[in-house]
Amino acid sequence: MYLANEQRYESMKYNRSGNSGLKLPAISLGLWHNFGGGDTLENCRAMVRRAFDLGITHFDLANNYGPPPGSAEETFGTLLKQELYPYRDEMIISTKAGYYMWAGPYGEWGSKKYLVSSLDQSLKRMGLDYVDIFYHHRPDPNTPLEETMAALDLIVRQGKALYVGLSNYNPEQTKEAARILRELGTPCLIHQPSYSMLNRWIEDGLQDVLDEEGIGSIVFSPLHQGILTDRYLNGITPDSRAAKPSVFLTEKQITEDVLSKVRQLNELASERGQKMSQLALAWVLRGGRVTSALIGASKVSQIEDAVGALEAPELSAEELARIEAILKG
Ligand code: NDP
Repeated sequence: MYLANEQRYESMKYNRSGNSGLKLPAISLGLWHNFGGGDTLENCRAMVRRAFDLGITHFDLANNYGPPPGSAEETFGTLLKQELYPYRDEMIISTKAGYYMWAGPYGEWGSKKYLVSSLDQSLKRMGLDYVDIFYHHRPDPNTPLEETMAALDLIVRQGKALYVGLSNYNPEQTKEAARILRELGTPCLIHQPSYSMLNRWIEDGLQDVLDEEGIGSIVFSPLHQGILTDRYLNGITPDSRAAKPSVFLTEKQITEDVLSKVRQLNELASERGQKMSQLALAWVLRGGRVTSALIGASKVSQIEDAVGALEAPELSAEELARIEAILKG
């Protein structure tokens, strides 16, 4: 039987999501990779246990995470049933719908039909009555935003989600969606965009919109899928994401130009007594503009590294300037 670490709330930092009442851990764990049907339940269990024991209360899923799609929710559902359910009220569990999930006109995008059906399926797979956060996973150019937002509002009123969020919406779409949700009485809690030292699109308008609207942010792939770690500094090992069949990170993306930047950043990290991955996380969390950094992991030690990032002092103005110079270089 699993008994959670009694010290689990002593060192994690919890940040308020925008103007809401909800606090999220500075580091959250996503189950996009490594929790699917082909992964061992024992490694999944070890990672979720360690995360929770370190104060990571937030676990992020989506209908399509696996592979195969749906299997990450099934894995998480199995762990809940076997040992985590006693801690349900200490957890923030999110899921999403937006990408392709099943055949026919109702299996993807942003119609009310798709969103409501998909969340019902997710709840069944996880064995839950409700999720804490339900996201629209990507904007739908063909469904009126009013319909998609009304579906999110409906889901909250039905008690199937406590809060709603948006993912991958651009600044203008976010502003409009936030206005509709506010008018419906279900304010947007959070936005989930990609963000890392190597992918800074949210600095160009989205962060300003989120600040103006009082919406929190949880940034995905803060380690750029592993590139902003020491993973690839000495070549590509067979157990890494880039070597696996994932189409999201391929060997081609690990260029000499990127590696040369990571090497220089890694030196700066060592001077701070940090690992490369920890510097990358400290950087996305700098200045308190991001509510939570949403990491992925294939091993328990990676979760420990991530939480360890919070121990170092804030990045100084001089260090930030050095990072800018390396990234521009
Ligand atoms: P990261 O950028 O954190 O990459 C995670 C990968 O980096 C791990 O799988 C591991 O790769 C490697 N890694 C992590 N820590 C270390 C370490 N200390 N040392 C060496 N390597 C390390 O995030 P992800 O791309 O996995 O995304 C995180 C989460 O964000 C997802 O699980 C999902 O919840 C969410 N997400 C949301 C999206 C959206 O559209 N809303 C899209 C994508 C992700 P390896 O497997 O090689 O060990």
